[in-house]
Amino acid sequence: MTTGAALLIVDVQNDFTEGGALGVDGGKAVAAGISQHLAQHAADYDMIIASRDWHDADNDNDGHFAPGEPDFVTNWPVHCVADTAGAEFDPGLDTTPITHHVKKGQGAHGYSAFEGVTDDGATLAELLTDVRRVDIVGIATDHCVRASGLDALGDVADVRILTALVAGVAAEPSQAALAELAAKGATIV
Ligand SMILES: [Zn+2]
Repeated sequence: MTTGAALLIVDVQNDFTEGGALGVDGGKAVAAGISQHLAQHAADYDMIIASRDWHDADNDNDGHFAPGEPDFVTNWPVHCVADTAGAEFDPGLDTTPITHHVKKGQGAHGYSAFEGVTDDGATLAELLTDVRRVDIVGIATDHCVRASGLDALGDVADVRILTALVAGVAAEPSQAALAELAAKGATIV
């Protein structure tokens, strides 16, 4: 029996948690919190989808990798290069309940998980065709969670951001991102 619900886990990868190339404070706590959420609620979801930032090694990914000093707004230190340790899931995330994987950012900024595809070429929008509600968690609130949430609002009836299970690069833009998502129709839980 379908409940039409999905969990979207955004970019819980080594480079985005403490000690990573672009480590976010609270990232490891988010990884552990999501694992706990999955232990209690995995059965509530028809699909558990995880996105990964998966950049090219041989180019700047459309200016995503800064040529020199990054501004941490529009360009960034090198991170999440495909098939490197930094692009792997944080070890605190229990990946066993994940039913679908999407990768994004190959030669592109790739902030939104909706730019991602599965290894079979399915887009996230295609995966979510029969889903009425998506709960979004992960990293970073002010960038990839924000962009994924905004795209989800165009695709899924009920979009919820679980704020206990997100972490941002900076506090003020993260608050602004949640306010923007709420103003556009997301439920902030
Ligand atoms: Zn990136």
